[in-house]
Amino acid sequence: MRLFMHKTSPNFCTQPISDGSHRVVVSLGSNLGRRIINLHTAVTALVKIAVSDVGCSAVYETNPVGYLDQGKFLNMVACFHTQLQVRELLSYLQQVETACGRRRTIRNGPRTLDLDILLYDQEYVCYRDLQVPHPRMWQRGFVLVPLAELLPDTRLLGGETVYQLAKSWVATEEVRYVGRFW
Ligand code: AMP
Repeated sequence: MRLFMHKTSPNFCTQPISDGSHRVVVSLGSNLGRRIINLHTAVTALVKIAVSDVGCSAVYETNPVGYLDQGKFLNMVACFHTQLQVRELLSYLQQVETACGRRRTIRNGPRTLDLDILLYDQEYVCYRDLQVPHPRMWQRGFVLVPLAELLPDTRLLGGETVYQLAKSWVATEEVRYVGRFW
């Protein structure tokens, strides 16, 4: 199992920020169309708003969660610094989803591209349409396993680390390593 063999975290994922930019972690997923191309399109879009390198996890193939009658996802996470405020970031990510052909039909249904803000600095954001940290990230293997590559020691809500939570997904085979593309 290669999930935890390499800790690839670029330094900017854990180092404090001093230039006024914000460290963000975004999850990427696709289960419709040319999935890897969709992820590549998304990473290219993230590079445009980043003021740092964009650190990417490997890509994993995962089983759908919630609405099960759909194809398998490719998932990964990316970490970078940006000058965008959190709502500007959400709006940008939604534009990228739309440009990639995303149609909002069934909740948790198939999608060409899904981009979620997992973390924004150490901030807690709670609007009707935006919660950060993403409230369900701690229950989702498709988030935790790739995130464990970049931020294994991150702890939220005083609980276990990302690494500890991610470990419980390894035996389930719900999250399978595909490869490192970026
Ligand atoms: P999804 O179907 O996962 O793409 O959910 C999209 C909806 O979740 C949007 O209407 C967003 O306003 C809302 N949302 C709430 N919190 C977040 C977040 N942290 N990142 C992205 N979307 C979010």
